[in-house]
Amino acid sequence: MHKTRSIIVTVVVCLVLLAACHRNQEQNAELFVFGTIVEIKLWGATLEQSDRAFEELQQMFNGMHRDWHAWEPGRLTNINKAFAQGQTVESDADIVAMIQYSQEIEQRSGGRFNPAIGGLINLWGFHTSDYPVIGPPPDQAGIDEILSHHPSSRDIHIDGLQLRSENPYVQLDFGGIAKGYAVDLAIGHLRNMGITNAIVNAGGDLRAMGRHGDRPWNVAVRKPGGGIIGAVQVRDDEALFTSGNYERFRQDQLKRYPHILDPRTGWPVKDVASVTVIASEGIVADAAATALVVAGLDGWSAVAGALNLDPVLVVDESGMVYLTPEMEQRIQFSGDVERVIVDVKLQLNSDDIQLLRQHQ
Ligand code: ADP
Ligand code: MG
Repeated sequence: MHKTRSIIVTVVVCLVLLAACHRNQEQNAELFVFGTIVEIKLWGATLEQSDRAFEELQQMFNGMHRDWHAWEPGRLTNINKAFAQGQTVESDADIVAMIQYSQEIEQRSGGRFNPAIGGLINLWGFHTSDYPVIGPPPDQAGIDEILSHHPSSRDIHIDGLQLRSENPYVQLDFGGIAKGYAVDLAIGHLRNMGITNAIVNAGGDLRAMGRHGDRPWNVAVRKPGGGIIGAVQVRDDEALFTSGNYERFRQDQLKRYPHILDPRTGWPVKDVASVTVIASEGIVADAAATALVVAGLDGWSAVAGALNLDPVLVVDESGMVYLTPEMEQRIQFSGDVERVIVDVKLQLNSDDIQLLRQHQ
């Protein structure tokens, strides 16, 4: 009797060990974060690793959602309150990192990316999860009041983890980079766990590392209005982000007002429907995609040059595609796509420099 039981125990232990050590080829999980589904794919991880990874990433994402929320009371809303009152406030290493990245990208994009315009975003009613927002634009006087104070991430002083803003109109809104930084942190966590092949995909905005077995990871590029425009093979460690003016917007009887604002006018962007960018880090790809939507059809190639960005793909309101030669080499279009190849402007002329300096 005793012997039979010990044999059964040994068999069960062996099975558990076998399962734990078995390297499944692909393992997937869907986590619900930031109001969207984040899909995680791992290749060649053990079951033990993947179970732990999925659980820890869910915890991490929950924490980011809580700490970085632009309007639900939490760490970021406390920071914004302190800025409005001219007080010094304690933050954390991730928020400091996001501010530092933002300061650089804001400067290099000539203020097109600017996460200090939370006041304007709120004024337009975009601090909500319920889209579309219905109603006419806000009063111009309210927009002008905020614009006249030029809120900028560069008004923020960082001393260790202590933050202070010289400008009470600075209100941080990380909507344009939070997903990017979140996928960077997630990939970093997986790497620290010894996982080498993974993809973290937040609705088409993603970062990948390694490969999918004997081939690279294959990812879809989103198209304005839904669907996909093509596919890209991700090289070893890359992020691909698309920003668009077509999903979240305000609407009245006359017009749609997309949720990406031009920080120089306080009004929603026009003429570009979406921008897709590939970069090595998620935070850079995310911020840059937002900056290029703001730069518009005339400005995107100069701003891409200033940000040292390539490959880039831009879709205008009529569905016309503009893309860099490097993107043309990388993307496999799903069907016939009318397109124009445009070089990233690495040599900026005096008009471009003037353009980039505006409103700084
Ligand atoms: P999506 O991935 O939804 O297309 P983005 O990455 O472009 O969006 O981020 C849009 C969000 O960024 C807005 O909802 C708002 O929170 C914030 N935002 C809007 N305009 C700007 C801007 N010019 N610079 C930085 N952040 C912005
Ligand atoms: Mg973005």
